[in-house]
Amino acid sequence: MKYDIQVTKTTQSNLPKVDFNNIPFGKVFSDHMFIADYRDGAWTDLRIVPFGPFEMHPANMTLHYSQTIFEGMKASKNQGGVPMLMRPELHSQRLNKSADRMCMPHVPEALFLQALHELIGLDSEWIPSLPGTSLYVRPYMYATDEFIGVRPSETYKFVIFTCPVGAYYSKAVNLVTEQTFVRAVNGGTGEAKAGGNYAASLLPAKLAQAAGYDQVVWMESPEFKKVQEVGTMNLFFVIGDKVLTPSNSGAILKGITRKNFLEILAKRGIQTEERDIFIDEIVEAYMDGTLKEIFGAGTAAVVSHVASLTHNDLKMTLPPLEERKIGNMLKAEIDGLRNGTVEDVYGWLTPIKVAAEV
Ligand SMILES: *Cc1c(COP(=O)(O)O)cnc(C)c1O
Repeated sequence: MKYDIQVTKTTQSNLPKVDFNNIPFGKVFSDHMFIADYRDGAWTDLRIVPFGPFEMHPANMTLHYSQTIFEGMKASKNQGGVPMLMRPELHSQRLNKSADRMCMPHVPEALFLQALHELIGLDSEWIPSLPGTSLYVRPYMYATDEFIGVRPSETYKFVIFTCPVGAYYSKAVNLVTEQTFVRAVNGGTGEAKAGGNYAASLLPAKLAQAAGYDQVVWMESPEFKKVQEVGTMNLFFVIGDKVLTPSNSGAILKGITRKNFLEILAKRGIQTEERDIFIDEIVEAYMDGTLKEIFGAGTAAVVSHVASLTHNDLKMTLPPLEERKIGNMLKAEIDGLRNGTVEDVYGWLTPIKVAAEV
């Protein structure tokens, strides 16, 4: 099925103002955005319009009750300059899973994909081409009823905008286990990419930063024995020749980078385990010298190496970055797939079809 998306092009592109050699993350926005309105049980007024602010009613339910969800993905250009997306259908499926938890309507996958293709096709000149750079794509949905009172909204907006982003040089981070606050609990909203989760994570991160750390490792309450995630990324450990990542206990966001990593490792015959991971076994592995790597996994940085992890009085310092075989391999593989220097043996990449071809 092909949706009818109305396109209004900007008369004044901001492209000439952008210094593609120096793009701050998340602050530069492409010329256009996609918007759809949900009312009377259907998505209507599908449109691509010049990027710009929304007018918002003071009683907009999202502002009060946080019925809002999002996705984050990247578009990149291959060696031939063709814009590509990686596994966009997984982002569509996850958005709908988040929507279920937050009592919001689904965006049909065909609509999600067509909107992505048309928007990115139109703004394809905004996709940076220097190594490591990409176009960050932010689809999201929020409640728009003008109403004070707690119930699911009857109207919503689904929006997609994009930001060119520079090569993400993340230095190795110093982490601390968080044993007071929690990000998510079983039965909570941790498995949904929902706005409120991130608001709740700010204070613990701020306190950890004041104490000299970069981020916290979230633990499962109330025992604080099992590890969950790091900041807004999934966690990986390399112990001996095994790669471990916490299982989806219901309080972990199922990252698509995490899924990609597990599939890449499986294809290379590297042993992986998705299971409950106890901080005590990490400490034990550190003590006996088998803890080789810890890293975070997520769309933005792909791999975020951990320099140290502090648990109670023990600061575990990890080996130098050049020895991080697994993390470095995974980042190189994902970056290479995105820029077309690694052959897509997985079938994960989809070329962007410009509007006329969709
Ligand atoms: C988005 C996110 C991730 C990573 O997901 P990706 O799909 O790999 O980007 C991990 N944890 C949390 C809490 C997240 O919000």
